Amino acid sequence: TRIRPSSKRCAVIGGSGFLGRYLVEQLVDRGYSVSVFDIRQGYELPGVTFHLGDLCDKQALLAALEGVSLVFHCASPAPSCDDRALFQRVNVDGTRIVLQTCQEAGVQKVILTSSASVVYEGTDIKDGKEDLPYAKKPIDYYTETKIQQEKLVLEACDTQKGFLTVAIRPHGIFGPRDPQLVPILVDTARRGKMKFIIGDGSNLVDFTFVENVAHGHILAAECLRPESPICGKVYHITNDEPVRF
Ligand code: NAD
Repeated sequence: TRIRPSSKRCAVIGGSGFLGRYLVEQLVDRGYSVSVFDIRQGYELPGVTFHLGDLCDKQALLAALEGVSLVFHCASPAPSCDDRALFQRVNVDGTRIVLQTCQEAGVQKVILTSSASVVYEGTDIKDGKEDLPYAKKPIDYYTETKIQQEKLVLEACDTQKGFLTVAIRPHGIFGPRDPQLVPILVDTARRGKMKFIIGDGSNLVDFTFVENVAHGHILAAECLRPESPICGKVYHITNDEPVRF
């Protein structure tokens, strides 16, 4: 017998990652029961069940989604991994599998972590809104697959069937336990490769504190109802002020 989906039961795909772990912690604090689905177990937390598997493995995913009504999808290969086949397999083919499996498992809501880079064409964007077109020439293959992933998730939104989706677009994410941004900056600086300024020193870059990114995802999940205007939409997420870089 299958467990009926409960509104307080959720799964975080990629929940062992930097952002995913903050999501898991905040969800637990808010009284959700949380399953993590990831290829690795990054930590232990009371009340959190870990299911180890690849999101391209439908059977493994289906087992982890039993009784779950809300799914956060924040798994991706690292942008720096430079493996085209892996980006295609996980971000595009894998996202199709995630959506199909969610529908089969009776999941009602899917929150995708997308990326603000999906609208970046290489020229500056200030106060960019969500109606900017997708980049025609994405800056890298990671971004190309994030565009396809986002489209798949938004197109799957179907209020008639009660399958609701929304995507959140952070740009850079910073905060404690960040495995990429600050460690790579520090390493680059140590190797003496940060002695140049590109432009006149007034460039701005958008970074959002990881707890705010996680909180934004949860607010989106809690607002996502069939009559809600956020169904099938995408939202940029940011702190108040960009960081001078
Ligand atoms: P992360 O690498 O820390 O976490 C990603 C997690 O996904 C990891 O735990 C990894 O094991 C898991 N994963 C990868 N492939 C998987 C697979 N095939 N099956 C199951 N799990 C898999 O990355 P993060 O910084 O936490 O990023 C989370 C999301 O946010 C990603 O979708 C990323 O594209 C997006 N994003 C991140 C940033 C940033 O600055 N960190 C900015 C914009 C968007």
